[in-house]
Amino acid sequence: MSKTTSVLFGIEDEFDVMSVDRTGPGQVKIIIQMPSGEARCPSCGVLSAQIKDRAVRRVKDVPASGQQVELCWRQRRLVCAEEACPRRSFTQTSKAVGPRARVTQRLKDKLARSIAQSNRAVSEVAGEFGVSWPTAHRALIVSASQWLPTPAPTSQLGIDETRARSVRWITSEAGWVRSDPWMTSFVDVSSDGLGSLVGLTPGRSGGCVKEWMNAQTPEFRAGIDIVVIDPSAPYASGIRAALPQARIAVDKWHLVALANQMLTEVRQRVTRTRLGRRGTSADRVWNNRLLLLTGADHLSAKQWDRLMAGFDTTELTADPTGELGAAWGVKERLRLLLAETEPSKIRWRLADFYETVLIANMAETTRLAKTIDRWQPAIVTALTEGVSNARTEGFNRIIKQVKRVGCGYRNMANYERRILCHIAVTRPRWSAA
Ligand SMILES: [Zn+2]
Repeated sequence: MSKTTSVLFGIEDEFDVMSVDRTGPGQVKIIIQMPSGEARCPSCGVLSAQIKDRAVRRVKDVPASGQQVELCWRQRRLVCAEEACPRRSFTQTSKAVGPRARVTQRLKDKLARSIAQSNRAVSEVAGEFGVSWPTAHRALIVSASQWLPTPAPTSQLGIDETRARSVRWITSEAGWVRSDPWMTSFVDVSSDGLGSLVGLTPGRSGGCVKEWMNAQTPEFRAGIDIVVIDPSAPYASGIRAALPQARIAVDKWHLVALANQMLTEVRQRVTRTRLGRRGTSADRVWNNRLLLLTGADHLSAKQWDRLMAGFDTTELTADPTGELGAAWGVKERLRLLLAETEPSKIRWRLADFYETVLIANMAETTRLAKTIDRWQPAIVTALTEGVSNARTEGFNRIIKQVKRVGCGYRNMANYERRILCHIAVTRPRWSAA
């Protein structure tokens, strides 16, 4: 053992220090390597001491005596001595430094604790320890998931994506890389689970869902009957792979958000086409943008009149092509569908929705209908079982948006009367289509 090993303070059982160099004010570089040139092949388990080559891996470590520390690990690649083994070579592995990691495990722990315990911004802590924002964020999520208690079995699990911060491109040694600020949360959405967070994992792919599921107990996996997700194909494929017995339900609030997004796209296109520019507050359609997104059942009589005036097809400054009114009709029919719980009524509402889309005959509404069609079994499951991810609100950006738009199903009779009234208003254009 080298006498300078003490600078490692805790990982000296795995590494020897070859040299310590000052690379700048407050910065040191420590060259390390494992004392033994022997390791077991991870494929066949045979011990090998035949060195193929050495690669230098740069790994950030926790600061020591106020100095930022960069470890340069001369990592040996060994040749597998077993002829029958398919693996030709393998690198030495360490408990202190994960495979492909750019920072030591103890620095990850330190980053996570510094962010969580002090309530400081991720960027501030990242700067202090000289790591990138995604590295600090990822460390926080991974640690936070370990701080959560072992999840209690639930029959209904919600999976949601959350974006911590906008996507950014950052420089690293390897060039420009895209930061991945997404994380996936797992929430108990059963009636007795009270919406408690049971898991967190970085990313939002099917793979990260599968990985998290596989890390749980077989009892936990077997107990899940329904999984509620966003209409996300990667999530669905991850669930099918990890939980073949579970039924997938799609979160209806996400569908409402998609319908509102569709309506916004139509409004912007119609405004652009008519004005040859973006809308301003002087344009009536633009003024109605919040009215359009508000559920019909939430509008006052006065708001209702203003909205209907905006759908006037005889008024050039209103909706001469009838497209806005048609898009609004499609959105409201989707909301009516999502309020149903009985299979026969759901079927009827679905047919009504698709018919309205056919009549509306626009690219935006057709695209929404294709999404609904693709997710129809998962929508029926969500509605008949009465499950959604609404319990994760406050934790989730998307849910917050939906909430702002204001969804709810009070005063149904009045609501339906208004829808019927609207059909009469827009019928001439629809008949002509
Ligand atoms: Zn081998």
